Amino acid sequence: MSNHEIWQAVLAELELSISKPNFVTWFKNTDIISYQDGCAVVCVPNEFNRAWMEKKYNQMIVKSLERVTGKPIKKLEYKICSIKNIPAQQPVSQQENKVEEFSTISTSSAPSEAAVPPRIGEFGLNQKYVFETFVVGGGSELAYAAAQAVVNKPGEAYNPLFIYGGVGLGKTHLIQAIGNHILAVRPQTSIMYASAEKFTNDYISSMRDGSAKNFQNRYRNIDVLLIDDIQFISGKEKSQESFFHTFNDLHQQNKQVVMTSDRPPKAIPALEDRLKSRFEWGMIVDVAPPDLETRIAILQKKCLEKSFALAQNILQVVAATFQRNIRELEGALNKIIAFHQLKAMEPTLESVKSLLSSLEVRSIHRSVTPQQIIDAASQFYAINISDLLGQSREKKFSFPRQIIMHLMRKELSMSYPAIGNELGGRDHTTAMHADNKITRESENDLKLKQEIELIKQKLYINMM
Ligand code: ADP
Ligand code: MG
Repeated sequence: MSNHEIWQAVLAELELSISKPNFVTWFKNTDIISYQDGCAVVCVPNEFNRAWMEKKYNQMIVKSLERVTGKPIKKLEYKICSIKNIPAQQPVSQQENKVEEFSTISTSSAPSEAAVPPRIGEFGLNQKYVFETFVVGGGSELAYAAAQAVVNKPGEAYNPLFIYGGVGLGKTHLIQAIGNHILAVRPQTSIMYASAEKFTNDYISSMRDGSAKNFQNRYRNIDVLLIDDIQFISGKEKSQESFFHTFNDLHQQNKQVVMTSDRPPKAIPALEDRLKSRFEWGMIVDVAPPDLETRIAILQKKCLEKSFALAQNILQVVAATFQRNIRELEGALNKIIAFHQLKAMEPTLESVKSLLSSLEVRSIHRSVTPQQIIDAASQFYAINISDLLGQSREKKFSFPRQIIMHLMRKELSMSYPAIGNELGGRDHTTAMHADNKITRESENDLKLKQEIELIKQKLYINMM
């Protein structure tokens, strides 16, 4: 039996127990490139494929190989290469020479990332949001300059700094970059980054648990307070009052406060005047949608970070399609990368254009649904939906459940109460805890990060 025949027999077995779309997605363009003394090497087209094989199908493949060859498998490896040029019936010795290796297209587990000791999760900061990865252009020059001034002289230059602008324009990136930069140059600084939603939730639970002192310590015993999306406290009187005192306390001690919002202080409805006026004490800057050149520069930077090459004319087309929201621009790029990596295909103007038109249609129809996230996780972890939504606290159920809640938050920007509802009527604090926990853990755990990445790929690829 040649290696190729062995693999065909294995595939025939696997096909029986794997759904058709999964089988085609993951096993197309695979083959055995060597099999000797119980050690086998399987050729797969790309990094996603390899990770998925290792995570999901390794056991099945080993068992099937053992059945087909009648011998134990001691070692099974996956190698990224192309089998396109191998005529199926050639003897294996000749095939081996023809297998051309791809340089691995690295995904989230790029070595450069792994080499930096992660100090992420600290103070709620995400290390990916730094000044170095922020592309300054037309709409963001002033905000960037103000952020720089703040990190050079925290508490002195502009206090508070208030950054406002539309969705997906880099506000969170900038406010977090401020925190990360201050920490890098003054590691002793104690910083608090929180969304106004988290501030409100923390405040409410501190009232409920009678732990007001803890709350005060957390938000007032610090050097820098970064509050994202402050507009969220609109209409929440108690939270506003608490924030008022927090703000005064910090400001009096020359501690730096930075806030972001989707609109200027004056335009935030149901916000107390005394807060409005305080928000205007320091510096108010806006971020506007970037021009075409800046959008292209952003794409180039992201491509570089992801070690993925896209021709200039393709970048141009992508940048022209998404004009008002960098998150969407980045999302489109991620999908383009995922799509071409999965198909092991060079991006062309045609393939990208057709992908973009499907993305545009989808952004109108609203892309992923909560149910699709549940389905994807259920498939990935091979756990029944009823168990995922059920009450069992066993780790094998609770962990995927937390991943689902995290994805609903990150991919769909759902509120915590809505997430709780989707997962069989759980409390919003459960959803919040899950999201925070997975965010924190995935920053430090490359494997988990990749796992989440894979589920996301699955989610979007299914829709293409
Ligand atoms: P906002 O908080 O304004 O809604 P974010 O800060 O979350 O937007 O930005 C959305 C995404 O776009 C993030 O991944 C961020 O890194 C990226 N982004 C936004 N502006 C820029 C920029 N000027 N340069 C590079 N990346 C950017
Ligand atoms: Mg934001």
